Amino acid sequence: MRHLLSTRDLGHDEAVAILDVAEDMADVADREVRKLPTLRGKTVVNLFFEDSTRTRISFEAAAKRLSADVINFSAKGSSVSKGESLKDTAQTLAAIGADAVVIRHGASGAPAVLADSGWIDAAIVNAGDGTHEHPTQALLDAFTIRRRIHGSAARAKALDGVSVTIVGDILHSRVARSNVWLLSSLGAAVTLVAPATLLPIGVTEWPASVGYSLDAALAKRPDVVMMLRIQSERMHDAFFPNAHEYSREWGLGDERLRTLAADSIVMHPGPMNRGLEISSGAADSPRSTVLEQVANGVSVRMAVLYLVLSGMKEGQS
Ligand code: ASP
Repeated sequence: MRHLLSTRDLGHDEAVAILDVAEDMADVADREVRKLPTLRGKTVVNLFFEDSTRTRISFEAAAKRLSADVINFSAKGSSVSKGESLKDTAQTLAAIGADAVVIRHGASGAPAVLADSGWIDAAIVNAGDGTHEHPTQALLDAFTIRRRIHGSAARAKALDGVSVTIVGDILHSRVARSNVWLLSSLGAAVTLVAPATLLPIGVTEWPASVGYSLDAALAKRPDVVMMLRIQSERMHDAFFPNAHEYSREWGLGDERLRTLAADSIVMHPGPMNRGLEISSGAADSPRSTVLEQVANGVSVRMAVLYLVLSGMKEGQS
């Protein structure tokens, strides 16, 4: 794998293979010394043009566990126009000798621009670009679902027949987009639920069914309920009457939580708006995989960094 820009072109077998490498990486986390020498001498740059807590820390931990050198570059606040600033920054990183660039950018497509530009020869990993994609989030979500369903026998398995309902601000969610492609490639049946105003144009072409009522979707007893954050920072209009109305219709509150099937799980990529899309009761319940998702994120990102950087080595030798 040369870059990871999107889950859209990951086939079933490739996706399963990445999750299997992540299982190997997770074994390292259980050891006394949680470090592998695999990427010694490699330089990984975390280039973040947008805010992040989990993703940036997670990539940093992943690179360090593989013994890479890590440079954190927070580009927020740059006043240079986007194309130029990306070019200048990329050339600087190339001059420093970056082997991999993990990029988060507010513009959809920025990681692909970097990968195709010729400004830098590093492996590019998309850590979230605008409303487009967030592939490592989807991989860690798939990893978490697979582990919850198959336990210690998860290796080599896909998600055939698993029903996943993704709820909320689909319009602005790169997490939803990456998950729809990945989970459907892995055989899961995905349903999207949102007010009509928070569904993108063209959503009917996605490999997912679409509904407007959360209660109707939950009545079908999905295996997984994935709640999305209301992304106020990307909303320049009123998309629903008010917060109270939103959480009454589309929030996962304590009452709805009680109606879920006994072994179903509740996911959220974070950061959570507690009391809006998810209640504290739901977020902190034993069904919630929120912290498991964070922990699994490190193993999945170790796998991705290993695969893009070792692939490069093969190409060069
Ligand atoms: N942290 C995720 C993202 O960066 C989800 C979110 O922000 O709501 O896309």
